[in-house]
Amino acid sequence: MEDRVITGETTEFDEGFEQSLRPQILNQYIGQEKVKDNLSIFIEAAKGRSESLDHVLLYGPPGLGKTTLATVIANEMNVNIRMTSGPAIERPGDLAAVLSSLEPGDVLFIDEIHRLNRAIEEVLYPAMEDFCLDIVVGKGPSARSIRLDLPPFTLIGATTRAGALSAPLRDRFGVPLRLEFYEEEPLTEIVVRSASVFDVSIDREAAVEMAKRSRGTPRIANRLLRRVRDFAQVRGDGKISLDTAQNALEMLQVDDLGLDHIDHKLITGMIEQFRGGPVGIDTIAASIGEESVTIEDVYEPYLLQIGFIQRTPRGRVVTNYAYTHFGYDIPEHNI
Ligand code: ADP
Repeated sequence: MEDRVITGETTEFDEGFEQSLRPQILNQYIGQEKVKDNLSIFIEAAKGRSESLDHVLLYGPPGLGKTTLATVIANEMNVNIRMTSGPAIERPGDLAAVLSSLEPGDVLFIDEIHRLNRAIEEVLYPAMEDFCLDIVVGKGPSARSIRLDLPPFTLIGATTRAGALSAPLRDRFGVPLRLEFYEEEPLTEIVVRSASVFDVSIDREAAVEMAKRSRGTPRIANRLLRRVRDFAQVRGDGKISLDTAQNALEMLQVDDLGLDHIDHKLITGMIEQFRGGPVGIDTIAASIGEESVTIEDVYEPYLLQIGFIQRTPRGRVVTNYAYTHFGYDIPEHNI
């Protein structure tokens, strides 16, 4: 099993596989009802006025469907989508080249938009606000700025950390949308839908079992499905029953809340080395040999969501619920 089988981050194993599973239109996009309701109104209104859609900021932990939703928006608006990412745009000229190649109404999707550098953000401001590019030609005292018009377009930015975006950039998005972790029901639907795309037969209880252990994240649900499918094919008759799913998930060492060995290390480390906290994120990260940003973006959001840790001004604290789940006695200072 590759190390990161049950985190929401993309791995090279996901490509292609994910592409085939991506919903294409809003109706196929499961869950996130509030986001969909809002979007469908904005899309209909923009189409009614024959205008481009206002700029959209999608934020939330990895694997919740930001890229998928950007594609869905472009399809619903009947426009093309250009995809790039913050780290891929190294110089202002790179962004200027992408912007000037857009057709009227097109969607420009920038993943990890919080990783754009300041100089590039500066190019983005007039582009987002007035659909124009300010280009500086020449150097020194003879340098001058020329303004180029751009076609109206929609910028869709995606980020796992809205807080890391500069305020002027954040303010230029007319439609900020926060994606939430998925409940069991929509995740079950996603597993059933993906199984039908793969032409695999699956019992509903098996899909529910996978949904429960997917950390509220479609990417993880799909990844578990792929693993369980292999297991069913090799050890069974290819059909995914509850029994097959449970055995496969056990072999994958995914516990009944979808926690993996890094979550275990993180929580038990906090309990054993730091008396359950409060402890700072950098200290936790160093103690288990992980990057702080990985913990903050990938592991912590779900642990906060299920109430295993809490954030306090003095650092992170383990809750009684987590003590019990990992088989520890609740410490006296928590009673
Ligand atoms: P993000 O960009 O937030 O990291 P993606 O859009 O790449 O996440 O989604 C990861 C995978 O999960 C995709 O392959 C897609 O098939 C699936 N997925 C995400 N959201 C949904 C959804 N609402 N309905 C069905 N499948 C989804």
